[in-house]
Parts: sequence; C-alpha cells; structure tokens
Amino acid sequence: MTTITTPALINRRLEQLIEGRATRDGDGVKLTRVLTSDLHQRLDPFLMLDQFGSDDPKDYGGGFPDHPHRGFETITYMIAGRMRHQDSAGHHGLLQNGGVQWMTAGKGVIHSEMPEQEAGVMEGFQLWLNLPAKDKMCAPWYRDIQSEEIPEVMTAQGVCVRVISGAYQNTSGAMKRSHHDYPTDTLYLDIHFEQDAQFEQMLNPQYNAFIYTYRGAAEVIESPKQSQAVTLHRMGILHNEGQQVQLRGKAGTRVLLIAGRPLHEPIAQYGPFVMNTRAELMQAVEDFNNGLFTP
Ligand code: FE
Repeated sequence: MTTITTPALINRRLEQLIEGRATRDGDGVKLTRVLTSDLHQRLDPFLMLDQFGSDDPKDYGGGFPDHPHRGFETITYMIAGRMRHQDSAGHHGLLQNGGVQWMTAGKGVIHSEMPEQEAGVMEGFQLWLNLPAKDKMCAPWYRDIQSEEIPEVMTAQGVCVRVISGAYQNTSGAMKRSHHDYPTDTLYLDIHFEQDAQFEQMLNPQYNAFIYTYRGAAEVIESPKQSQAVTLHRMGILHNEGQQVQLRGKAGTRVLLIAGRPLHEPIAQYGPFVMNTRAELMQAVEDFNNGLFTP
C-alpha cells in the first residue's frame, strides 16, 4: 500500500529588515520609532512600534504628559521600569516590569504616561493597533495586565514564550475582551531563548507579521538550507507566503513576534488621531479643541 506524506509546511521568509529611527516624543523621551507611517499599508493593522530603553533618567524623566488619542489602540509592554497612567475616562494604573497596558482610545481619551522612578532602567515598547471603522468611535476602554497574569509556556527546546495576545499552541494570551468583536485578532508573543534553540509558530498567510529582536540576535529559518539574521534592535517583516514562522536564537536572545489580520480600510493619520478620512481627522481636531475628549 502506498502512503502519502503530508507536504512540509512552508516557512515565511524575511521580506525586509528595518532599523528604526531615533527620535524623541512626549516631554523629550528618547526612543526608536521602529514601525513608521510608510509601513501603514504593508503592516496593516499596525500603525506604529516605538522601542524605548535607557538607564539615564534624562532620556525618560519627562514622560508623556497629557495628550489625546482617537481611533485606535495603544499596547504598552514594559520590560523594565514603572510608569503611571491616568486618563480622562477615569482610568488609572501602574504599569511595571513585564506588565502590559492595553488601551482602546475609541472616540477619544486624553491621558498621561509618567515614569514613577528617578533612576534605573526604563525599557519597553508601545505598539499602535488600528481599529476598524465601525469601532473608531467606541467608548474608551483599558486594561492593565500585570506580569503574573501573562501565561508563560516553556517549550521542550528551552524557549520561554510569554503569551500576551492570541495563542501559542493551546495557551491563549492574557488579553481577553468581550466588549466588541476583535477583527484584528492580534498575536503578540514575547519569545525568550533560554538556550540555543528553535521556535515555530503557525501564522495565517493573510495576516501581516513581523519580529523585533531586543536581546541577542535571531534568525528567520527560511528553508532547511537557508536562514536570515534579524540582529539586535532590528524589525524583520515576514513575507506573507507560508504557513509558519521558524526562528532560531542563541541563549539569551529575545524576540517579539507580532501578527494581525489586516483591516484593508483607508488610513488617515494626523498625529495622535487615526481615522479613515481627512474629514474625520478635522472633526477629531475640532472635537478636541471643543473639549469633547473630556467627559
Ligand atoms: Fe499616549
């Protein structure tokens, strides 16, 4: 009797390496803007990724005083440090070491994100995730996820996977919500190679995906014979073709893997407002100036 073997999974290849651009934002916070607006279409539904990391309080001490947002979500992942959050919808919380803050700005919030430390390392990421047109004017929502609430899976090869959103194998992420359906279906994994190892994750070919290396150096395994390095502080955009991503890292390497279903809607951005049309942006500015972001 003949047997038919299952075809091997095709790995996603590395499409582009991005270095990011040094900038300052808020009250002079030094950061690297990794995902910039020229990648809005390519990485739909993701709008921005900022990486910050410094042990010099002059680089972060000013924090992000009161500023507005409308039309999208911000996901802040704190690797080290403490940041106090307050917003006009009455939410407040402390984001620290390994915790995540997931905020849906919806129709509008004014918030501040201020360091609660005068020394030591402040390190983390802020990702901007777009909302579909139907949800852009939803009520603001937010959740603080403490580090202990983030499920961690240790693979047989010695890779520790922190599941922030989406799922790794049978473990679903800390981020759960029921307030509206969730078309961007975001996968957000923080992958720690505790020893020299490989890691695989299935990815829907329709979903846009990238990795970001924040410790050591990773490799995207494209085929049994070929791999491409994604070195420290680089984002690797993954080609959509293929059913999985396969990574290799030496002990100590840490990588974020982020993927989501694109919205395929027009994107109009003016600073902290992200809508679908220019008219909606004008409305956002007018509403803000008229004090409508404050209940
Ligand atoms: Fe903000």
